[in-house]
Amino acid sequence: MSNSDENKKEIPSGEYGRHIIQYPVEISFCAGCSSCEIVCGLVHEGVSSPSVNRIFLERGEKQSLMHTILTCQHCTDHPCYEKCPKRDEAMCIDENGIVYINEEKCIGCGLCAKACKFEPSRINFVKKADKTKRKAHKCDLCRTRENGPACIEFCQVKCIGLSDQPIPNQLTESI
Ligand code: SF4
Ligand code: SF4
Repeated sequence: MSNSDENKKEIPSGEYGRHIIQYPVEISFCAGCSSCEIVCGLVHEGVSSPSVNRIFLERGEKQSLMHTILTCQHCTDHPCYEKCPKRDEAMCIDENGIVYINEEKCIGCGLCAKACKFEPSRINFVKKADKTKRKAHKCDLCRTRENGPACIEFCQVKCIGLSDQPIPNQLTESI
């Protein structure tokens, strides 16, 4: 996905819970350093790998260098949760409306990733040859971490933050 007008139309309408947003360029400009992705994998899995992070850096074209940060918006209608055959065991919603995955109970079917209303899916699901190792990974806003989302804390240019507001057209509109 690129930052073209076409792709901006892909943002679905709807209500969203507390979620991570990328600030417009007037506030801060993503440096494309991948710190958010790296720290996300480290905090959740103890490793840094594109197969486990729950926040995604979509690099802009060379001419623009406008990078886009993508992550779960904690939709209030949460189609990912509705599709999970292990609802309330694998895919859960906490008392604050945070949609999260209990990976121990995840059977690796991938239905949640397919059901995500965003393109690309905000659920990281990599098919592994060993089916017992297939697990879905998604942003849980670091719900059990004292300092909150690690990606926000470690972003050197402070281009991401938390919001309860509808998703802005990230690169042009104010929050
Ligand atoms: S991959 Fe896991 S969390 Fe996703 S729908 Fe299947 S069981 Fe549920
Ligand atoms: S994974 Fe997708 S559908 Fe589910 S809450 Fe997050 S953004 Fe919404």
